[in-house]
Amino acid sequence: MDRLLADASKRLEEALKYVEISEDASERLKYPKTSLSVSIPVRMDDGSLRIFQGYRVRYDDTRGPGKGGVRYHPNVTMDEVQSLAFWMTFKCALLNLPFGGAKGGITLNPKELSKQELERLSRGYIEGIADFIGPDMDILAPDVYTNEIIMGWMMDQYSIIQRKISPGVVTGKPQTMGGSQGRNKATGTGAFYVIQAMLAKFDRVPEDTTIAVQGFGNAGSVVAQLLAKAGYKVVAVSDSQGGIYAKMGLDIPSISQYKKENRGIKAVYCEDSVCNIVEHQILTNEDLLKLDVDVLIPAALENQITEKNADDVKARYIFEVANGPINSAADIILNQKGIEIFPDILVNAGGVTVSYFEWVQNRSGLYWTNTEVNERLKEKMVVEAEKVWSIAQQHSVSMRTAAYIHALNRLGEALDAKGTRDYYVNGLSH
Ligand code: NAD
Repeated sequence: MDRLLADASKRLEEALKYVEISEDASERLKYPKTSLSVSIPVRMDDGSLRIFQGYRVRYDDTRGPGKGGVRYHPNVTMDEVQSLAFWMTFKCALLNLPFGGAKGGITLNPKELSKQELERLSRGYIEGIADFIGPDMDILAPDVYTNEIIMGWMMDQYSIIQRKISPGVVTGKPQTMGGSQGRNKATGTGAFYVIQAMLAKFDRVPEDTTIAVQGFGNAGSVVAQLLAKAGYKVVAVSDSQGGIYAKMGLDIPSISQYKKENRGIKAVYCEDSVCNIVEHQILTNEDLLKLDVDVLIPAALENQITEKNADDVKARYIFEVANGPINSAADIILNQKGIEIFPDILVNAGGVTVSYFEWVQNRSGLYWTNTEVNERLKEKMVVEAEKVWSIAQQHSVSMRTAAYIHALNRLGEALDAKGTRDYYVNGLSH
């Protein structure tokens, strides 16, 4: 097993001690069901041809069609995509969505491509994986460095191949193409509901709670804005270029506005950095993770906190908005330090939850208001967060282990319903 997936799977071992699922089911969950690798030829603007490497993994589809985002990043590998698909499997089960887990990606630096080249690449990716996806098979969504424009191209290309409009194959689309109200902000909004509900357990007062957010993209910028609006002191934010810090709290709406305006000017990607905004101290992404704050929110990429820097983390609570920002070795160190970690498969599940709402709306043809979406999102996030909290109290385990226990119970039941060793060894009793 490759490195990232092996590390992700370690989280299962602890949770398996507390659930009653068959050995067959736990064995099945250790391996991705299907992994597809495609090469994508793209005609570049200067006439040359470049071949890109793309992946789509369906980790498990026992509870429903595969569901998961598509990432464009230079570090994308099969191992990374498999581990992201693993997390999606548990996330969908945790939120009780009728989906299995999947993920996709293309290895590239998207900032080096023109908008036209990105469109040809995105359509080429769909050509490569078209037989592997579909509204009842595997549904795509945005992830790091992909957005609603790209989702629109993907849905359009799939519809061209199928010769019928197929909005349900992709979520996170533009609203004019069947996208849902609230999907753009869903991950950050869902995380905000969980943070509020969980910090209330510790009697935290927003005005006295300092927060640092690593990653100011789709997920990180929204959660930072909502927290600032609710009165929390967001003292540091960062993006791939570096970060900014202000002891008294940053003016998050202005920072967001600045990024938004630049994104508008710069077509698909925002190339400007939050570092360009004044009245702050500059800090690196490494320094941001070591800040003496109450709450740390990693919202960029995986493996940001490892055994190398876990000792330096001073936050009291960590809410994982990114997928896999803490590796399993760091988890142990942070737990020993008494830091309360709220895991990715719970905290960032708002994105896939509203993706589910979008898929439902696409299939029913009836579209909901922004208020309806957010009310349903809040209910789902808070209900499942409270269940995870109860499991953690009941077994005296970490919130991460409790989240896996909760998801494993649902997954195990579904896998066992398909047939267990007992059926074959002892026969059916009736
Ligand atoms: P995004 O592309 O919108 O933003 C990523 C942000 O991270 C950008 O601000 C980028 O500059 C910053 N970044 C990149 N490398 C960094 C580094 N080394 N240090 C600090 N910042 C860095 O992506 P996103 O959709 O916001 O996704 C962020 C994380 O949230 C990912 O782990 C993703 O898997 C997870 N997530 C996203 C969604 C979603 O719906 N968008 C849902 C669930 C989980």
